Amino acid sequence: METIRERLEEDLRTAVGRLRQLGGAVAVEEVPGAIGDNSPYADEVDEIQANERREIGFATRELLVDRVNRLSAALERLNSGDYGTCIECEEAISPARLRALPEVQTCVRCQDRIERMGRHLEEDEEELEAVSDDE
Ligand SMILES: [Zn+2]
Repeated sequence: METIRERLEEDLRTAVGRLRQLGGAVAVEEVPGAIGDNSPYADEVDEIQANERREIGFATRELLVDRVNRLSAALERLNSGDYGTCIECEEAISPARLRALPEVQTCVRCQDRIERMGRHLEEDEEELEAVSDDE
């Protein structure tokens, strides 16, 4: 288990480092009302591009925050002896999967199910709010 711990700790340091670098860059674009707020005639293309850039920033940072959370959770689980057990069905996660993705908390089957549910929800939202640009 020592190598997994070392790998998790190293991945955690890397992810936190990236998050710090990214934090400064994203904060500039997070100023409330900075985009299109005081100009009803703002050029739509500019606005869409700004929103896309902002969303890419959010997405990347969300992914990193997510990774940091999962890596710290994995380290905690390693300490408490729960590491390698699926948090959904409590079955053992396959060693090959843990080697490939040491921070995973779910077995392949549960991960598949969660991803399908996620995609399904996103599709529903797009149908209901096709023109919404709210986050
Ligand atoms: Zn499972």
